[in-house]
Amino acid sequence: MPGGGTRARELLTRPWDVVVIGGGNAALVSALSARENGARVLLLERADPVFRGGNSRHTRNIRCVHDDASAWNTGAYARSELWKDLCGVGRGPSNEALADLTVRESESVLPWMTAHGARFQPALAGTLHLGRTNTFFLGGGKALINSYYRRAEQAGIEIIYEARVDSLDFEGTRCTGINVDLAETNARVTAKNVVVASGGFEANIEWLSRYWGDAALNYHIRGPKTNDGSMLARLLEVGAATAGEERGFHSVAVDARSPKFDGGIATRLDSIPFGVVLNKHGDRFYDEGEDVWPKRYAIWGGNIARQPDQIAYSFWDSKVQNMFLPPMYGAYSAPTIDEVGRQMGIDGAAAARTVKAFNAAVPADAGARFDPAGLDGVATTDISPPKSNWALPLDTPPYFGIAMRPGITFTYMGVEVRDDARIQRVDGSVFENIYAAGEIMSGNILSTGYMAGFGMTIGTVWGRIAGREAALNGDR
Ligand SMILES: Cc1cc2nc3c(=O)[nH]c(=O)nc-3n(C[C@H](O)[C@H](O)[C@H](O)COP(=O)(O)OP(=O)(O)OC[C@H]3O[C@@H](n4cnc5c(N)ncnc54)[C@H](O)[C@@H]3O)c2cc1C
Repeated sequence: MPGGGTRARELLTRPWDVVVIGGGNAALVSALSARENGARVLLLERADPVFRGGNSRHTRNIRCVHDDASAWNTGAYARSELWKDLCGVGRGPSNEALADLTVRESESVLPWMTAHGARFQPALAGTLHLGRTNTFFLGGGKALINSYYRRAEQAGIEIIYEARVDSLDFEGTRCTGINVDLAETNARVTAKNVVVASGGFEANIEWLSRYWGDAALNYHIRGPKTNDGSMLARLLEVGAATAGEERGFHSVAVDARSPKFDGGIATRLDSIPFGVVLNKHGDRFYDEGEDVWPKRYAIWGGNIARQPDQIAYSFWDSKVQNMFLPPMYGAYSAPTIDEVGRQMGIDGAAAARTVKAFNAAVPADAGARFDPAGLDGVATTDISPPKSNWALPLDTPPYFGIAMRPGITFTYMGVEVRDDARIQRVDGSVFENIYAAGEIMSGNILSTGYMAGFGMTIGTVWGRIAGREAALNGDR
């Protein structure tokens, strides 16, 4: 219900066993888990009902251990393999014990989700080759979130929308009150235990600017404005310890015409390995064919963030036009590279010179050896940076182009937790009755880097733990 209503205000006067802060995957799983362990649960979501669900509503899949091929996955994904994949990301797991717990617990996640209304589908083409390891939500994250909200309502969980938690009151290490900004008024609610599942701080441009300076002003945020890290900031102020790289984030290349916030999955661009990428001066700056796209798509946000004005331009020709997911707003197109460049507002002649030099560095038999299905080794010679695979010349008009910005998916730094999801303090003690789940604590599992589908795994595994432990803590 909306935050301004009489009933919402009445709900806030009741004493609760568990209050969950947030309205995405981790919050909903926590709420369901707490309720199933006997607690009276109130969930406070800052967004309105239409935009409820945080980043989670933009998701498509989850990565969990599973035994066999099924209607949804093309084969088994063993615990040892998921662990190995996790160890291969960035600097590997931040806390091995918690990462191991996450991997083990992931084994029961898909059945748990099904039992709570989730529906899956086989992976579609163009989904980064994740059909074996990742399970795709039928209708995407939005449908999943809607199912969980329905299930929560049926279970008797009370939900207030447009309820922004502003601060928490403490006596020592115990949270004694939750201060909420509602649409028309402020209120204070009390709970025996609190689960914080309010996501990362990626939508807080000022916070990002502390690490990235004015460059952050040019970032696009792929998820909602509501993920501004206000709860994370409050927790750090009262002594929570941090986990995860402070300035780290996951980011991809998005269409520069996409909205500043909440563009979601559709604004991502997958044209990069099929052509060349130039900066605003018309120069190439990074190997577009370094590795298979699932392993490289998430470095391009950072690559573009390091270019002048945080903008870059993807060019390709009509030979490859149908080999990747089409860009949502369509591409610029013209009979020459020069003209495409000028349409996008850069020096077209410089772009054409760069493409000519690139074409000259492509091997003569590139077309015969080109294989988009894997690393084909079709590489440029004597040019810097090289293109290590799929180096076809851009020689078949019409030519196409798109301007790209860094699209920030989520930030890595959050709060440190113990294995019962309680939040750790910098002084070595633990908050007695505050738990964390989801993106706000994912830095305990991976401090740098990311593995597709694992954000939802972390949220589900730790939501179940946080909800259960919060429900069972103390003298309920
Ligand atoms: C475009 C996109 C695609 C993605 N695709 C995938 C994918 O396919 N698979 C995958 O595993 N991960 C994916 N991710 C990452 C994934 O979305 C996150 O890992 C996951 O959703 C985090 O869940 P969460 O519940 O912790 O946070 P969120 O889902 O972001 O939820 C945070 C919630 O907290 C609320 N909130 C924030 N501050 C307050 C406050 N002060 N008071 C009250 N409420 C507050 C917000 O309104 C929101 O409801 C994707 C992310 C994006 C942006």
